[in-house]
Amino acid sequence: MTVKVTARGAERWKQGHPWIYRSDVAEEPDKQPGIVSVTDRKGKFLGQALYSPKSEIRLRLLTRGDEPIDSTWWTKRIGDAAEHRTAITATAWRAVHAEGDGLPSLIVDKYGPYIVAQLLSAGLETARDDVITAIREVFGPAGILLRNDAGVRRHEGLAEEVVAAWGEVPQTVEVTEDGLRYLAAPWSGQKTGAFLDQRENRMMVGQHTRSGGRALDLFTYHGSFALHLARNAKAVLAIDQSAEALARGAENARLNGITNIEWREANAFDFLRELERRREQFDTIVLDPPAFAKSKANIERAVAGYKEVNLRAMKILAPGGVLFTSSCSYHVSRDIFNAMLADAARDSGRRMQLLAATGAAGDHPELLNVPETGYLKGALLRASV
Ligand code: SAH
Repeated sequence: MTVKVTARGAERWKQGHPWIYRSDVAEEPDKQPGIVSVTDRKGKFLGQALYSPKSEIRLRLLTRGDEPIDSTWWTKRIGDAAEHRTAITATAWRAVHAEGDGLPSLIVDKYGPYIVAQLLSAGLETARDDVITAIREVFGPAGILLRNDAGVRRHEGLAEEVVAAWGEVPQTVEVTEDGLRYLAAPWSGQKTGAFLDQRENRMMVGQHTRSGGRALDLFTYHGSFALHLARNAKAVLAIDQSAEALARGAENARLNGITNIEWREANAFDFLRELERRREQFDTIVLDPPAFAKSKANIERAVAGYKEVNLRAMKILAPGGVLFTSSCSYHVSRDIFNAMLADAARDSGRRMQLLAATGAAGDHPELLNVPETGYLKGALLRASV
């Protein structure tokens, strides 16, 4: 099938963005999802794309060429993406970061011998068999799990499901990262089973943890930051409102023989207020909350929430103490994030030094011309006075 696009649609690809929206499609004769040829109104060939007839994002560019897109094609593209990750020493990493790797709407994460993938568009779903064949070809995995329960599939008219597509995938997989071990939960954990995007930030935080000091990990989930803090700190306090998440955290600590983490079920907002009231101090603090801004509409409230927790965290830092803070809200841009931190720093009365501005780990590459590929912002700060 051939889909024709308007001049504005064609311009999107020229500008380096792979998406063409519904409003920029001129003709879509057969409204069946799949891989289609794309031309301008006059019939000039522009490339091939994944086509999603129900989605606002109608076309996602795969190639500007007219080569056949079969399992060999997917094998080459996925293989190329995996090649860029050979220096990673952790046993879990992202092999394909969708648009960031020229494979729109495809996520492929490697957890030891297992693969957890997400097919996030209707067009891609039609290529499922070829993609699975390619994944088997590139990684020779013991099992492939499709975590196709991401909400974005609804916009594509696709079912939300979690299915094993090949072999067997266990409920938990042990991951080694920077000499630490933790359990990922491919079937039920957040994202594809763990937060792989914070891997490099966790290692950085570990290096900046004050030896023999007191550390605080807010929104700890399964304790992945807490484990890194615990190696240098004397004592770590790990906070989450979910008892189930904390139980997993405790299990991860046991796996490493770590005994200096205290797991506490609490609301981070209330708990921070309480710590401030009691004038407690910490040498190292990690603040890695869930996305407070789920849509454009609630950015303002989200920023107020981020500011509140950051301000209180800054206030309870010991002199010279270090805070790693992050936001994974796509709608909170880096500029908004920086302005929020500046506001919090001013109100805290502390002089906050910026030691590092970070994003997601290098296996989650952002594209400069595709802002949608970036969502995670991080800052490593030190209270100098
Ligand atoms: N830092 C974690 C990821 C955090 S995910 C890691 O690196 O793995 C967000 C976590 O915040 C979830 O575990 C959720 O239970 C917790 N959470 C959400 N709102 C909270 C609140 N108000 N107080 C405490 N924990 C909260």
